[in-house]
Amino acid sequence: MSQDMNIPKEQKACIFHKKGGPVAVETVPVVQPSELKPGEALVRVMYSGVCHTDLHAMLGDWPVPNKLPLIGGHEGAGYIVAMNDDQTDLKVGQNVGIKWIAHSCNKCEFCRQGYEPLCKSAQCSGYSVDGSFQQFAVSYTSQLTPIPDGLPLDDAAPILCAGVTVYKAIKESGVKAGEWLVIPGAGGGLGHLAVQYANSMGIRVIAIDTGSEKEQLVKKLGAEKWIDFKTEKDIVKAVQSAVPDGLGPHAAVVAAAGAAAYEQALEYLRPHGVCVAVGLPPDTDIKVPVFWTVFLSKRVVGSYVGNRQDAHEALALAAAGKVKTLYKTLPLGDLPKVYDDMHAGKLTGRIVLDMNK
Ligand code: NAD
Ligand code: ZN
Repeated sequence: MSQDMNIPKEQKACIFHKKGGPVAVETVPVVQPSELKPGEALVRVMYSGVCHTDLHAMLGDWPVPNKLPLIGGHEGAGYIVAMNDDQTDLKVGQNVGIKWIAHSCNKCEFCRQGYEPLCKSAQCSGYSVDGSFQQFAVSYTSQLTPIPDGLPLDDAAPILCAGVTVYKAIKESGVKAGEWLVIPGAGGGLGHLAVQYANSMGIRVIAIDTGSEKEQLVKKLGAEKWIDFKTEKDIVKAVQSAVPDGLGPHAAVVAAAGAAAYEQALEYLRPHGVCVAVGLPPDTDIKVPVFWTVFLSKRVVGSYVGNRQDAHEALALAAAGKVKTLYKTLPLGDLPKVYDDMHAGKLTGRIVLDMNK
């Protein structure tokens, strides 16, 4: 057992007790270093990004039940204050990130292949275990991600889910330098990072979202084409003709939380194109005509966060300045308002909560 400071007995946390909320700041106990189980660490969380997944969890949108009451959050950035693990390379005082996958068995086929999110015993931060919307979070040394020196904690926070997820999804799409990628949801938390990761890989980007603020942002970040899904009448035609040969993009990474974003995604892709499903709107099916799927050899794949190596790479690219999170910092207690704005699609980039305010 190692620890580097006196740990308070109580802390602030944002918590909800039942499906649909309300979510509010409460004073809750801090797990003490002597209570940590083997493999656990206590992290002093300084900042946490707010992902749309946190809102889905609060609303009970998905067919997998979450823990209740729940402290959400899975883009936590802070430093280790205590650990019950003498095998790990991590050190007390080290900057680390709490990402969605908090724990996996590390022994099954999926873990061995680097698909830890598919592990049957995977635990998810801010879903099956309490997450980063608290000042002192318990997590697991096996999945904590070291944050590179020189990368500020608030800049790092959104990389831990949004960044890792889109970085992995672009890799899963197989799209290559010089090819075209369409990103529905490009102005949101995941999307604005997807534009930049794609750009850093030499991939050409068509951004779909709505409103002039998001338009300006994604163009500044490197999107060559912009389509507003609220004003464009024929999205399929607009996406296809955005590519100079008129055949449509090689891939889509759907990073929107609304079902409509999936409606045309298969249709506007070029033959042999791939739709990477990332956004998780509730009760949504992807409808594909069998004939055209076969005849044009189109593909749909799901992509679910990333593994530890993806997290390392996504953070390293941010530390190297290739990708920059655009965010607004708000106090922890503003989370209910953040959820309202997120639900209304009003947020550009990410919101990062400051755990000290
Ligand atoms: P966000 O609210 O920050 O961004 C979503 C964006 O989608 C907004 O800018 C919104 O305007 C835009 N949008 C809505 N409808 C659209 C449409 N029809 N076409 C184009 N754009 C549209 O959300 P986020 O935090 O970036 O998360 C996005 C989704 O990704 C959520 O459903 C979240 O749960 C999911 N997610 C999945 C994974 C994964 O591993 N697959 C990981 C993290 C988040
Ligand atoms: Zn997330």
